[in-house]
Amino acid sequence: MALVNELFLKLPGNYLFSDIAKKINTFKTSHPDAKVISLGIGDVTRPLPQAVREAMHKAVDEMGDASTFRGYGPEQGYPFLIEAIIRNDYASRGISLDTDEVFVSDGAKSDTGNIGDILRRDNRVGLTDPVYPVYVDSNVMGGRAGELLDGKWSNIVYIPCTEANGFVPEAPSERIDVLYLCYPNNPTGASITKAALQKWVDYALAHKALILYDAAYEAYIQDPELPHSIYEIEGAKQTAIEFRSFSKTAGFTGIRCGYTVIPKALHGYTPEGKATAFNPLWNRRQCTKFNGASYITQRGAEAVYSPEGAAQVKETIQYYMGNAEIMRKGLESAGLKVYGGENAPYLWIKTPAGVSSWQFFEQMLHGAYVVGTPGVGFGPSGEGYIRLTAFGTRENSIEAIDRICRWLK
Ligand SMILES: *Cc1c(COP(=O)(O)O)cnc(C)c1O
Repeated sequence: MALVNELFLKLPGNYLFSDIAKKINTFKTSHPDAKVISLGIGDVTRPLPQAVREAMHKAVDEMGDASTFRGYGPEQGYPFLIEAIIRNDYASRGISLDTDEVFVSDGAKSDTGNIGDILRRDNRVGLTDPVYPVYVDSNVMGGRAGELLDGKWSNIVYIPCTEANGFVPEAPSERIDVLYLCYPNNPTGASITKAALQKWVDYALAHKALILYDAAYEAYIQDPELPHSIYEIEGAKQTAIEFRSFSKTAGFTGIRCGYTVIPKALHGYTPEGKATAFNPLWNRRQCTKFNGASYITQRGAEAVYSPEGAAQVKETIQYYMGNAEIMRKGLESAGLKVYGGENAPYLWIKTPAGVSSWQFFEQMLHGAYVVGTPGVGFGPSGEGYIRLTAFGTRENSIEAIDRICRWLK
C-alpha cells in the first residue's frame, strides 16, 4: 500500500491568484467593454536582452556540432558562469568567494524551496510577514510548520513588517534557528540598510542561527549605500546562504537560471552539537537530485555580465523603475500612502482607513478597472495593503495610475 506524504495534505489551496482571476472574469462579464489593466503581475514583460539572445543562439549552434556538443554539465554549473558571477557580483564589492561556494540552478524558487532538504525537521523557522509564499509552503511540506491556526502556522515565527518598523523588523525574542530574509522585498518593496542587516547577522551569530537571504531583486537597488549581498556584512559568511536569480534581473523568468551561495565557513550543527558545514551537504543534494541548468541557458546568463549585456539589463531595469516612479508619484498625489518602488519594482499601498485588502481590490477594479494583489494574500500582516508591480508597459502603468487618480477624486 502506497502511503502519501500527508504533510502535503496540510497545505490549503493557493487560492490567491485563482480568486483574483475569478473576480476579474466576473467583472469582465458584467463590463464587457472595460479595458482592465493588471498591475498585479509578478512577472517581467520586457524581452530578453540582445546580448543574451546572441549568446544563446551561438550556444545552440555549438550543440548542433559534434565537435562542440555538450552533454551533461557539472551539476554545480559551468566554471565560465561561476567565474563571471564571482567576478561581477561579488569580487566587485570586495567579497571573495571560491568557485565551489556557488551553485548554479534553474532559479531561486527551486533553491529556496529545496534548501529544507539539508535542514532538520525540528528547526524553528522564522520569517518576515508578509512573505514570498514559497518559504512557508516548502516548510509545511518539510514538516516544520506545525498546524494552521487563524492564518498562521503554529511552529513558524511570524515577524511582522509594518509601517511602524518601516517593513524592516528587528529580531523577536522567540527562538529562531532558520530565518528567511528577502531584501529588496517582495511584496513590500522595502529595502534594508547595512546597519539593519548587520543586526540580523549579529543576532544569527549569537544564536547559531542560519539566515536564508533572498536577493532576487538586488539589481533594482538604486541607492548606492544599500547592500546588494548579505556578504557585504561582517560575519555573514559564518551565518548566511544567499539566493540570486537572473529572472527579475535579466528577464529569465521563462529561461530559468539562478544561483545559490553557500560559503564553506558556514556551519550548522548535529543534534550532538557538532559543527558541520552546509556546503558539502548542498553539493551532495544537488548532485543527487539536480543535473544542472542547460548549457544554452548558462551561456545566456554569462552574457548578462558582458559589457553589452550589462548595459541592456540596466536599461530594462531603469524602464521598470521609471514605471515605479511615475506610479508612486501619481498615487501619492491622489492621496494614497505608498511604500516601496524606490529600490524594488513593487509598490505597497496602504488602503484607506477601514478598507480591507480585498475590499480595496474590488473597489479599484470597479472604479478604475485596475487590478492589484491584495496584501493579505502574502500573510496576515499584509492586511490593509495592496501590491502593485512596476513590471507592466510604460503605457499601461501611466494609464492605470491616471484612472486611479480620476477614480479617487
Ligand atoms: C521572483 C522571485 C524569485 C525568483 O524566482 P526564480 O525561480 O528564480 O524565477 C525569488 N524570490 C522572490 C522573493 C521572488 O519574488
